[in-house]
Amino acid sequence: MTDYVRIFDTTLRDGEQSPGASMNIEEKVIIAKQLARLGVDIIEAGFAISSPGDFEAVRRISHEVEGPIVCSLARAKLEDIDKAWEALKGAPKPRIHTFISTSDIHLKHQFRMTREEAKKRAVEMVKRARGYLDDVEFSPMDASRSDVKYLYEVIEAVIDAGATTVNIPDTVGYAIPSEFGALIIGIKDNVSNINKAVISVHCHNDLGLAVANSLAAVMNGARQVECTINGIGERAGNASLEEIVMILRTRKDILHIDTKIVSEQIYPTSRLVSSITGIMVQPNKAIVGDNAFAHESGIHQDGLLKEKTTYEIMRPESIGIAQSTLVMGKHSGRHAFKTRLKELGYELSDENLNKAFERFKVLADQKKEIFDEDIEAIVADEILRIEIPERFKLDKLNIVSGTDSTPTATVEMYIDGKHVKEAGFGDGPVDATYKTIAKMTKAKSKLLRYSVNAITGGTDAQGEVTVRLQEDDHVVLGQGAHTDIIVASAKAYINALNKLEYKKREKKERVI
Ligand code: MN
Repeated sequence: MTDYVRIFDTTLRDGEQSPGASMNIEEKVIIAKQLARLGVDIIEAGFAISSPGDFEAVRRISHEVEGPIVCSLARAKLEDIDKAWEALKGAPKPRIHTFISTSDIHLKHQFRMTREEAKKRAVEMVKRARGYLDDVEFSPMDASRSDVKYLYEVIEAVIDAGATTVNIPDTVGYAIPSEFGALIIGIKDNVSNINKAVISVHCHNDLGLAVANSLAAVMNGARQVECTINGIGERAGNASLEEIVMILRTRKDILHIDTKIVSEQIYPTSRLVSSITGIMVQPNKAIVGDNAFAHESGIHQDGLLKEKTTYEIMRPESIGIAQSTLVMGKHSGRHAFKTRLKELGYELSDENLNKAFERFKVLADQKKEIFDEDIEAIVADEILRIEIPERFKLDKLNIVSGTDSTPTATVEMYIDGKHVKEAGFGDGPVDATYKTIAKMTKAKSKLLRYSVNAITGGTDAQGEVTVRLQEDDHVVLGQGAHTDIIVASAKAYINALNKLEYKKREKKERVI
């Protein structure tokens, strides 16, 4: 193999910090299993001390996911390191990732520490982690805005203390490629023990340079890249895994560096993450966007028909886009359904498989052709939500609307197991439904976003509704799918309300 870059996936940690992207434990385990199939080297499964949910996600992924190193984030605090280890100890290959800032801006205003104090703390925490395991990563947060001499000193000290990976974050997405590449060279030239650790980078996309900066770092000696599926993450997001991987693969002629990623799993993973988080991929997104392989120009189409390489630098099959998207119909059996689910990244228990298959049969009666997107919507709607306790449950919904009537919704629901019925008006059927449900559930939340997507083509397509609700500092995403978009809307709203209830309770149990 040519020179090799480790892929450190942080979709479940930094990616989850995308506003509204929070995932439940079951969803995280499903994504982690898919990341293992994709062939990532390291999965950052969460930040164990941040909440009981994160702790449990790290613990379960440590026990249930085979292949990659499993990592937990920990601040440079004793209790964080201890908690990370407690969550990780079932993993065959555990890693603790600890961090403290090294920039004067952060040390002065946020950490209220001197440079010496921060360095001392970093060394102590790396030692603490090494007391538990051999694989310890340290990040000097805001490295790209830190004084380089001090940065070199800290890196040297943590490597002496036992850090095996040093990760250089461009925390605020401020660096430009030439500068960031030079920073990596500076570290190699000025940190005497640097050959004892792997240099990693973690770039944010505030100026749209996360991938370019990561690549500049790799070209100058970094051998681990931290990235996320679809580039999701805090603010403008992180470096996108699929872009990094396909750049290295497509231009190996000049880069001579590769990853261990199974590129055919890129597209299924992208779809899985966007379906679970509700964060859609922009159509013109490199590699995984809907239009990434769509050629519109007549001249290009002509060339492609004669010879694919005229306008195609990558083959869609190489990232796992199937040639035919039509998969199933009314006559498809349980076995075919199960096989297709597996190909899409879902391995369900028998009980969940039965539930999903029943729903599939109902849908197959309503629409002729069932596409992958329909199957994903069924799993999202039927299975992934079971873990959130359902305080509110939709029973029946009837709507009157049209050009000559006042839109009216009659809603029947179970609230804490009790059957309730209510009717209300609105300026449209969705408004009438939402107002009625809000009245019944006494919801105080604000609707930040409402969007409806036809999951596939055709007027018989399922509508998938995504809503974003806010109450105090909680933002949640709700989703619902149905061939009737008003029913899908009600389901999405109720799903979000259930998540809000769950979040409010979880907050009370939070450790920090
Ligand atoms: Mn980050």
